[in-house]
Amino acid sequence: MLQEDIFKKLTAHCKEYGFIFQSSEIYDGLSAVYDYGQYGVELKNNIKKYWWDAMVLLNDDIVGLDSAIFMHPDVWKASGHVDAFNDPLIDNRDSKKRYRADVLIEEFLEKLSEKINKEVAKAARRFGEEFDEAMFRKTNARILDLNQRLESVRMRFVEASEKGDLDGIRQLIIDCEIADPVSGSRNWTEVRQFNLMFDTRVGSVSEDANTIYLRPETAQGIFVNFMNVQKSGRMKLPFGIAQIGKAFRNEIVARQFIFRMREFEQMEMQFFIRPGEEKQWYEYWKDKRMKWHKALGFSESKYRFHDHVKLAHYADAATDIEFDFPFGFKEVEGIHSRTDYDLSQHQKFCGKKLQYFDNELNKSYVPYVVETSIGLDRMFLTVLAASWKEEKITKANGQEDERVVLQLPPLLAPVKLAVFPLVKKDGLPEISQKIRDDLRFDFACQYEEKDSIGRRYRRQDAIGTPFCITIDHQTREDETVTIRYRDTMEQERVPVGKLREIISEKVSIKKVLEKLY
Ligand code: ATP
Repeated sequence: MLQEDIFKKLTAHCKEYGFIFQSSEIYDGLSAVYDYGQYGVELKNNIKKYWWDAMVLLNDDIVGLDSAIFMHPDVWKASGHVDAFNDPLIDNRDSKKRYRADVLIEEFLEKLSEKINKEVAKAARRFGEEFDEAMFRKTNARILDLNQRLESVRMRFVEASEKGDLDGIRQLIIDCEIADPVSGSRNWTEVRQFNLMFDTRVGSVSEDANTIYLRPETAQGIFVNFMNVQKSGRMKLPFGIAQIGKAFRNEIVARQFIFRMREFEQMEMQFFIRPGEEKQWYEYWKDKRMKWHKALGFSESKYRFHDHVKLAHYADAATDIEFDFPFGFKEVEGIHSRTDYDLSQHQKFCGKKLQYFDNELNKSYVPYVVETSIGLDRMFLTVLAASWKEEKITKANGQEDERVVLQLPPLLAPVKLAVFPLVKKDGLPEISQKIRDDLRFDFACQYEEKDSIGRRYRRQDAIGTPFCITIDHQTREDETVTIRYRDTMEQERVPVGKLREIISEKVSIKKVLEKLY
């Protein structure tokens, strides 16, 4: 199946099964804003818990915070967002579509690098075992030519971006003959800067009202509370502050479902360190965060690092953890070495000292920061994309069938087990409900008695429930039930008294967290 079709099916699945709805859908929706439905909110909460526990529970030196969305307007002057939180936009005159100019160029670079990889793969097939990839890359005329092109475009792009040279960026689009992906037209307007912050007004009388912003990142709430947390918690460097919360960006091109939204959630952790130790901590958090992703058990080949060529104004090193979405490898999480930029800027703007007295060194300084910043909604999309499968199956009676299954890591599944009476009579519903009532304190359970067992299984497969328990007439005699495993569809007869143990073992967050500790 084409990746594009998979993505379409995945988004339709999210709606059909109550994971994600378009915001204000009955009014035809609001672009790039989404609501999480009954299963979506559970999955989202489970992802949050996995992140929070990995950060706050497992690390003595990381504490949590929940800062407000509204902040003093000067925060965003100090952070650089008022002046520099811009995206360069460009319109196509024929299609009337709007694009991010930098994204058009990045996609062009990505295509060139894919071309190179394809040439290498083709040669590897042709030469078989004798193939020397390094030598081929160094000597093949076509590869050298493509590489030279790629490097020259990249250099021009970095230079124009760093200088804020919008004409230079436009010229690059023209010179690379980049066409509108929809219409194929090359009739481009000028490039303009566009600030991504939403503003609103506080105060009831319009003359007094102040413009304030909806925060475009949660990080600044952490920086402005650095002294509060450090003093009240008597924190010693190095230490971190973790926070989960909403952020808002007026994205120019909001596409790809919940990948790019105007209202979204971030899970950010700022780690405060001694100046000079930034390289070591940057590497440490790169490694830790990649482990967190991989511990979920999806294929390792779905993740890669992508180091930034063009660094943000605050960073001295930055990388993205990218995930192989149905629309290609894209950023899920950023790890940034932010130097002392943020605290120094706030110190300058608020006129108060934001420094730490280091007993060992016997001096005060502004700490450096390494940040890990992951989009909760993007993480949600990675989990769904990696879990969604359409499978051909053979039913018990030998007939061919199909099923859609979400092979969610059990710790993230919205419902951990479903309890079914085989039939709606003979006391089986009562026994089933008793079993459910006994287990509901430990796991998110569902009780279902409508439709055939097969249909009930399909519904639970579609929302990713790892276990289905069926109560039949034999249960009345020997207190055993069948447990059916979502991924293998195998069924096993087990004593009712063993259910808690079997299920705990598989859905436990502890098992996954232990891999990280
Ligand atoms: P992008 O390059 O995709 O715009 P970014 O580099 O601006 O992202 P950061 O500012 O580093 O993103 O934000 C940290 C994380 O927040 C990102 O890795 C991403 O997971 C998430 N994020 C950022 N913008 C959005 C958005 N519009 N919708 C959903 N998640 C987002």
